[in-house]
Amino acid sequence: MMADYKRLINALPHGSQILHEPLLNKGTSFSDAERDQLGLRGLLPPRILSLETQKEKILENFFAMENDLEKYIFMIALQDRNETLFYHTVIDEIEAMMPIIYTPTVGQACQEYDHIFRRPRGLYISIQDRNNIKTILGNWPNSTVEVIVVTDGERILGLGDLGANGMGIPVGKLSLYTSCAGIDPSRCLPITLDVGTNNTTLLKNPLYLGLQQERLRGNEYDSFVDEFMAAVAEVFPEAVIQFEDFANANAARLLQKYRDSYRTFNDDIQGTAAVALAGLMTSMKVTSQALENQTLVFYGAGTAGIGIGKLFVQALIEKGIPEYKARSQCWFVDSGGLVVKSREGLSADKMEFAHDHHHLKELLEIVQAVRPTILIGISGQGNSFTQPVIEALAGFNDQPIIFALSNPTSKSECTAEKAYHWTGGRAIFASGSPFEPVQINDLSFIPSQGNNVYVFPGVGLGVIISGAPRIPDSLFLTAAKTLSKLTSSEDLSRGRLYPPLHHIREVSKEIAVAVARKAVQDGMAAVSLPADLDHYVASRMYDPVYSDYTAV
Ligand code: NAD
Repeated sequence: MMADYKRLINALPHGSQILHEPLLNKGTSFSDAERDQLGLRGLLPPRILSLETQKEKILENFFAMENDLEKYIFMIALQDRNETLFYHTVIDEIEAMMPIIYTPTVGQACQEYDHIFRRPRGLYISIQDRNNIKTILGNWPNSTVEVIVVTDGERILGLGDLGANGMGIPVGKLSLYTSCAGIDPSRCLPITLDVGTNNTTLLKNPLYLGLQQERLRGNEYDSFVDEFMAAVAEVFPEAVIQFEDFANANAARLLQKYRDSYRTFNDDIQGTAAVALAGLMTSMKVTSQALENQTLVFYGAGTAGIGIGKLFVQALIEKGIPEYKARSQCWFVDSGGLVVKSREGLSADKMEFAHDHHHLKELLEIVQAVRPTILIGISGQGNSFTQPVIEALAGFNDQPIIFALSNPTSKSECTAEKAYHWTGGRAIFASGSPFEPVQINDLSFIPSQGNNVYVFPGVGLGVIISGAPRIPDSLFLTAAKTLSKLTSSEDLSRGRLYPPLHHIREVSKEIAVAVARKAVQDGMAAVSLPADLDHYVASRMYDPVYSDYTAV
């Protein structure tokens, strides 16, 4: 890891340039000896501040700001100036930082990207670069890349097509890879594929920074992404390629196309599935029931919902349950109502879960007919879990499990408050967006947030460490089981289905260890790993502290 820094520092002809290299800059923390050796005397105020003092100063400014977008701009400016201090601060205050450097504030930042853009970060590969993508990748200054997060900007969070302004998403996701799983920031590469945009506001906006033309579609789009994948495999053969915020039709299709030939995964599909499944596994500890005895109604049969259903089926198959039986425990509902065999025009994915049952349209009558133990909202339809639906569910379950996973908060199928109130405090509740704790009489309930950040950084690190050439669902199943084990009895007693976010480095490390072990066990590891894998993984995680450049 140090080698990259040595290369960078050796390449700097004059000390002043080090102040403009965010991976190396220490600002006021350069020691006297470094100032002499690097020609920095006079370029910095004389007082030397420790990393801790610098962090305190950053936090003082951060917490004094009232506007979240202002905080985002402040933190990105710090990242552009001094990455060590940025990560040191983010890791120490992860609970306050996550909603700023990632959702929800990053969404607002993407919407206003034209206005807040200061310095480029990552690579923009546009359709004008067709037949030349390898050269563009070669322009990236760091030769070793371990993780790429790529978007084409078509479905940014719940905000739709933001074109090239979606770059905030790969940048933010990779900050989480470094903060949570210790992936060296010099080995992270955010990429936006600019294939145009169909956002009419952006097409007319003179400040828009992307290509002002309609989106490329069909074969031309496909061959552009094909060229990108092949070029990455050649230029950065070690890289894990994470697809992020592609439109649903492309997301599932591209995953299917590339999953068996590249080291790639789609977080919106596979990461979501693992986090949701981990929450369900943990719920079983609360209810003292078995996953194989559950009946699930999924309200929403899109990419995310079907992804959860598929991983649930894998979990049951591993327990010895036949696949047809596992599938029969999952009931899907889409905008056309209950997914049943008699419906025409169902996709292949939905057909796999279709039941031999008469068609029902309304959620209430579906819940009454199917009598699920678990109700999962993944439809993007806010407030669709009405009081009669929740009360019906609570009528035949002592502890009804309610996951309202749609984002943002306004699209959540049910708020935490309603879930707890309408079930008399008996619900086991998780959501996609965060909710405040709920008080009923003397009891306080802490809603759980099924945040993908619990899974993707650890999976990525485990794949990098093991050198696994592919990222099959079995690794996400391993991640889900590991995450579920990490929820302590104290967390459970407070109603939490996931560990607190400030344990995220430990969580990511444990998932990485388990994923690497699974890769070895399944014959996928490309390297032999030391017996003390735990220690080895921890030692591979980037720790944001300053190096002594006089010793380099
Ligand atoms: P999608 O568009 O692929 O699927 C939406 C599904 O909901 C479709 O099957 C659609 O038919 C169904 N639907 C729409 N209106 C309906 C209605 N009135 N009644 C019943 N079903 C209806 O979207 P997706 O990518 O699967 O995402 C769905 C939601 O899940 C989004 O809100 C997204 O934010 C959320 N999500 C959350 C997480 C997380 O919490 N970790 C991760 C991924 C997605």
